[in-house]
Amino acid sequence: MTTDTDRHTPVDAIIVGGGVAGLSAAVALGRSRRSVAIIDAGDPRNAPAAHSHNYLTRDGESPLELVRLGRDEALHYGARIVEGVATSASRTEAGFEVTLADGSVVRGRRLLVTTGLTDVLPDIPGLADRWGRDVLHCPYCHGWEVRDRRIGIIGSAMIGHQAQMWRQLTEHVTVFAHTATQSATQERERLAARGIEVVDGEIARVDVEGDAIVGVTLASGTQIRLDALVVGPNFTSRADVLLSLGLATTEMVMNDHVLGTYVEADPVGATSVPGVWVAGNVSAPMDTVVAASAAGVKAGAAINGDLIEEEVRLAVEQAKAIAS
Ligand SMILES: Cc1cc2nc3c(=O)[nH]c(=O)nc-3n(C[C@H](O)[C@H](O)[C@H](O)COP(=O)(O)OP(=O)(O)OC[C@H]3O[C@@H](n4cnc5c(N)ncnc54)[C@H](O)[C@@H]3O)c2cc1C
Repeated sequence: MTTDTDRHTPVDAIIVGGGVAGLSAAVALGRSRRSVAIIDAGDPRNAPAAHSHNYLTRDGESPLELVRLGRDEALHYGARIVEGVATSASRTEAGFEVTLADGSVVRGRRLLVTTGLTDVLPDIPGLADRWGRDVLHCPYCHGWEVRDRRIGIIGSAMIGHQAQMWRQLTEHVTVFAHTATQSATQERERLAARGIEVVDGEIARVDVEGDAIVGVTLASGTQIRLDALVVGPNFTSRADVLLSLGLATTEMVMNDHVLGTYVEADPVGATSVPGVWVAGNVSAPMDTVVAASAAGVKAGAAINGDLIEEEVRLAVEQAKAIAS
């Protein structure tokens, strides 16, 4: 943890966001003997889920335990963890200053933003409370756990794609057109061919008994029994800190539909603002845990390389000055 004195010491790299992307970058940088401060609000995107899957050797681990283990590894290599919410960043002569909601400031030579994204869910009563438990979005993350169960797909722009993905896991898939009537109409033939029923009409509420979804009630009053629901959230990049540096978000478009926003960067996470990198879901909404972690390692290595270049340039200038 951080003392007041620590907070005033500039570090080689400030990392805003201590999820898997940020922590992986911190380990890569720490192992290169770089000083790192990680500012973290402690709210990783997958926190509502009890288990995380598709991360080799860690299958089924709790998302919060993964982050706890990651923090231990980052601390082992000398990272400082600053608990709090970063609200803005600005450029200084020596690099960057990040201001937190409590008014404190962290200073560093380079900035990596790994703040992830917010899943904006359809506004249906009862839905948000079950998010990450039996309201799902990613078949690779939680599909196996609901194989052969009754799954309802809530209409979105990606209705056809999602329904066919989940049909791979169970024969009992029902598509609810809800407000996506046009997409449901366009996909009807392909869905019917795979035995997927399309139910017209809007969903009025999600029905829950005890600690589980039992189905949905339509606006017409019809009730349909289900074991899980699938939604297509809008993936909204948590980019406030980057916006304060003049960066913008870009719409992520698939098949003419806007699925969310992200911050553009090169393959190692460098943005168009010199000295500022991004990694994980803030710049790649489809990245799963292992992909976000890999992106963090790549960005960490790129930042180390950039610092080395600066240090070599300064050393050459100094050597020339001494020689002249
Ligand atoms: C319900 C659900 C279940 C999932 N299950 C799986 C799964 O089983 N397997 C899998 O591979 N993927 C899964 N995912 C995807 C997974 O969550 C992401 O791949 C992963 O979290 C991306 O990591 P990240 O580091 O980019 O962002 P995050 O993990 O979201 O971490 C971002 C961190 O930044 C912090 N932060 C944000 N803004 C600020 C700020 N302004 N100041 C300070 N800190 C800030 C947050 O508090 C958080 O700690 C799931 C996603 C969801 C929604």
